[in-house]
Amino acid sequence: MEKVSVGVLGATGLVGQTIVQLLSNHPWFEVREVAASERSAGRKYGEVMESRWSVSSAIPKKVKDLVLKECKPDLDCKVALSALDSGVATEVEERFAKAGYIVSSNAKNHRMEEDVPLLIPEVNGEHISIIDSQRRARSWKGFIVTNPNCSVMGLALALKPIHDAFGVEKVMVTTMQAVSGAGYPGISSMDILGNVVPFIGDEEEKIESETPKILGNVAGDRFNYADMKVSAQCNRVPVLNGHMESVSIKLSRKAKKEEIITAIERFAPLKQVGLPSAPTRPVSYLREMNRPQPKLDVDAEGGMGVSVGRLRECNILDYKFTLLSHNLVRGAAGAAVLNAEFLKAKGYI
Ligand code: NAP
Repeated sequence: MEKVSVGVLGATGLVGQTIVQLLSNHPWFEVREVAASERSAGRKYGEVMESRWSVSSAIPKKVKDLVLKECKPDLDCKVALSALDSGVATEVEERFAKAGYIVSSNAKNHRMEEDVPLLIPEVNGEHISIIDSQRRARSWKGFIVTNPNCSVMGLALALKPIHDAFGVEKVMVTTMQAVSGAGYPGISSMDILGNVVPFIGDEEEKIESETPKILGNVAGDRFNYADMKVSAQCNRVPVLNGHMESVSIKLSRKAKKEEIITAIERFAPLKQVGLPSAPTRPVSYLREMNRPQPKLDVDAEGGMGVSVGRLRECNILDYKFTLLSHNLVRGAAGAAVLNAEFLKAKGYI
């Protein structure tokens, strides 16, 4: 099978380089173009990344020799995986979609638009039906699909099986987010070592608004948001990769603890679809009292699995639990790749 050509926009950033790594031996996709700002353009990817490469394996040989381009819609590829800074993503992604590229984006810019899927294939695959209205309304040859904020990803995946079985009405979540969530070079070591910073710009708002969109449904050319109230508090902690979240939930129907765990353990919605990056278990329940932990569990399912533990009754809402997900893989690069795989499987590529 001839591989689908991919361009990575923002290929020099933390998410962009993780996409490059994840696609190094991909069965369906091949990175043919890398693009970033004009500061990086014109130089070989390997040369620019020499001092910035932060993921564990070496820079793939084929990509090392590619010359970085500017993010203009004249790249030789069909799919644009965007890991662009949000300061530039709005216009750049729109230009690519208008020119006929299929854009799968990590950036926040288009996530909440009424004709743009905020897609997690295991949760709301049917939302891609809105793509036809997006193309029609904007007269675009291509289209934009987005993946959620990195904290929302773990939360929405963990809530989905519980919401389907028992209805989730209220969510209170406190996050402990890794430094890699802030991009490269991110927060300075002087500010984070031995410290916790109780503020991440825009993050609480994103968790509160994106979660009901994702867990809602689509009817014709509009989304119906889930009837769910979400309250978030976000903290940056001195962990490299992996966002932890302490979550309390109010349910519509009574549930026993074991019934919730069973719903989580049976959750395998993509089993029959056969996507290369889809985890066998999107959400795993860990029964040990001191799990999940970033050190032990962040790489579950190659970084694509969410780990949940410590489910117990809550004195104020109904239940509380802890979750962990890899912000750069499941929460960003792997999410954009999985979305592109899902679009291909559904005939959109
Ligand atoms: P990052 O490390 O700061 O990388 C930003 C990228 O954007 C770089 O490749 C940079 O290129 C490029 N860029 C900046 N200004 C540009 C311009 N004017 N024109 C073209 N390209 C430009 O950030 P990141 O952590 O990888 O995040 C990338 C995106 O994903 C952001 O929108 C972020 O919010 C989102 N996201 C991040 C995470 C995470 O865990 N880090 C999770 C989910 C979503 P140069 O190197 O040339 O400056």
